[in-house]
Amino acid sequence: MNDSNPEIETTTPVEDWMSRDPECVTRGAALSEVATLMGVRRHSCVVVCEHDLPVGLISERDMVRVLSRVLEGELSDAKAEDVMSTPVISIQGDRPVGEATHLMKARQIRRLLVVDERGGPVGIVTQSDMMRAHRNTIELHQRTLEARVAERTAELETANEQLETLSRIDPLMNIGNRRAMEEALAVAHQRSLRYKRTYSIILLDVDKFKAYNDTYGHPRGDRVLRDIAREVIASIRVLDTAYRYGGEEILILLPETGAAGAVPVAERVNRSVAALATEHHSSAHGVVTISAGIATSVPHTDGSIPGVLDLLAAADQSLYEAKEAGRNCLGAVVQP
Ligand code: GH3
Ligand code: MG
Ligand code: MG
Repeated sequence: MNDSNPEIETTTPVEDWMSRDPECVTRGAALSEVATLMGVRRHSCVVVCEHDLPVGLISERDMVRVLSRVLEGELSDAKAEDVMSTPVISIQGDRPVGEATHLMKARQIRRLLVVDERGGPVGIVTQSDMMRAHRNTIELHQRTLEARVAERTAELETANEQLETLSRIDPLMNIGNRRAMEEALAVAHQRSLRYKRTYSIILLDVDKFKAYNDTYGHPRGDRVLRDIAREVIASIRVLDTAYRYGGEEILILLPETGAAGAVPVAERVNRSVAALATEHHSSAHGVVTISAGIATSVPHTDGSIPGVLDLLAAADQSLYEAKEAGRNCLGAVVQP
């Protein structure tokens, strides 16, 4: 039906938009009666019915057309059937609005009688009713479209956030990756520079891990790394964060923490890893252990602070000491 004009297709039924109950008169009704209905009740159209079925329509235009003749007394006893327009073009109330619009357009009429399934009149729709219906449909489509766009945008934002998070996480250890670590260290450095704050880092390294892989295989080595990372996360404080520095090394960043605060954290992590009691025959300790190097960034008296690379080198030096001291222990805190 609406093939020629699909953009105004609307599926709501005509009866939702018809404006009023039609006023009916008989064929023999006097024109004065019709005029009264139109004037007093403000109906712009009256339906002429016979046995409850419409046989004609009288519009204001029809009335105006005969008005002068009525005034001249020429049509003093004119009846409804003398002025009504026929045939009556109608549409059933359950038909779609788009169909009514097309019918009005094709027949070049400004109003359409709405009928029930028996053909009895139930209402009248005008061109302006149709305009309202179409505007409503367009607005509805627009709102649906806007809602869909908003939904897609939200989904995209969530996906982006997830991607952003994933791009900062090491998939094996499930802690921050090197990139996340570098960003966090840069932020800590800036904060320290600006507010003259102290912070510390702990560098952890799995002891004799090459030998572990050689003895137990790489997949079991991977599992050990995952277990250690989980212990680290469980052992550090809420504001401390852990990152995979590389290979079997993990860095813990401790904001607002000096040596006195960092040492107990490192001890706790070392203890908890050893407590896993993961068999490691090639290690002097018999189980998987880690060593820790600690470095603390304390603002210098001239206001400068150690660079991030200096701090990392200091932690490395402390870690080296721990390895030299027999592993499964901490190196002395280095303050560059
Ligand atoms: P040390 O006690 O001196 O640290 O000895 P080490 O054997 O741990 O040190 P080394 O640097 O010689 O070896 C590190 C090993 O860590 C070698 C490497 O294969 C292993 N490794 C690094 N990344 C991974 C990983 O993702 N999975 C596994 N299974 N092993 C890894
Ligand atoms: Mg290493
Ligand atoms: Mg190692």
